[in-house]
Amino acid sequence: MERDSGEEKTCGDHGGKDGFDAVVVGSGYGGSVAACRLSMAGIKVCFFEKGRRWEGPDFPTDTLKLMSASRIENKNLGVSFGPKDALFQVHIQNDSLTAIACGLGGGSLVNCGVMAPTSVRARRNPKWPKEWEHDWEVCEASASTMLRSQSIPVEFPNAKVMRQIAEDEIEESFKSSFKLSMNIGSGEALSNETGSQQMDSCLACGNCLSGCPYNAKNSTDKNYLVSAVQA
Ligand SMILES: Cc1cc2nc3c(=O)[nH]c(=O)nc-3n(C[C@H](O)[C@H](O)[C@H](O)COP(=O)(O)OP(=O)(O)OC[C@H]3O[C@@H](n4cnc5c(N)ncnc54)[C@H](O)[C@@H]3O)c2cc1C
Repeated sequence: MERDSGEEKTCGDHGGKDGFDAVVVGSGYGGSVAACRLSMAGIKVCFFEKGRRWEGPDFPTDTLKLMSASRIENKNLGVSFGPKDALFQVHIQNDSLTAIACGLGGGSLVNCGVMAPTSVRARRNPKWPKEWEHDWEVCEASASTMLRSQSIPVEFPNAKVMRQIAEDEIEESFKSSFKLSMNIGSGEALSNETGSQQMDSCLACGNCLSGCPYNAKNSTDKNYLVSAVQA
């Protein structure tokens, strides 16, 4: 339910002006893809995201800014500090610690943007749902197009280190197929299934993990959510 200027909008109130057929909570890959595909299928979607919209220049580029864009909630000590809608949210409870992103785009705002194909090992696992195999390649290709994943022309220094660490863990087929969901190349309007958006070019600054300050990362606010709104 949503309250706007005193007016109540009820989810599931079919036929009414403000009725919704589906509610999606969160705008990471999960929520964005769901909102996009449901909207494109003509379903009226009510979409919730607790974080704010982040533009390139808003992302923290030094330690002080990083600290003020963070919230820590320690359930063990019963303390929390930092704004509730901070970009980085660290939750500590019992012996677990999670670090997640909060903002329009969810984790895609602060992740490394590495797009690896689903491992053969995972798909051969008996727990892998057999029905997913029918059009897996088509769906994977569609996601790759939407997220505009690209091969990396040069190996960034930190990628070299990661490769060495993961050498034994990564399948042979993976090594040649790592792609980044970044705009590598000239800054230009890029198209996806339902629209196009101006993107700037990756400068290999290495700030991906605190949000791309150069508007070059294909976070979900730049693709799936744009398509969802258009639909
Ligand atoms: C540092 C880091 C690097 C990573 N690098 C990679 C990588 O290179 N490649 C890769 O494939 N994966 C990577 N991942 C993992 C990937 O980003 C996550 O698996 C993915 O973002 C999870 O998507 P999600 O939709 O499940 O949730 P999230 O992306 O976490 O999105 C959840 C969203 O829901 C919102 N939300 C939560 N509660 C509420 C509420 N009550 N109401 C409204 N909104 C709410 C949050 O604000 C958030 O925006 C990385 C993750 C991290 C943290």
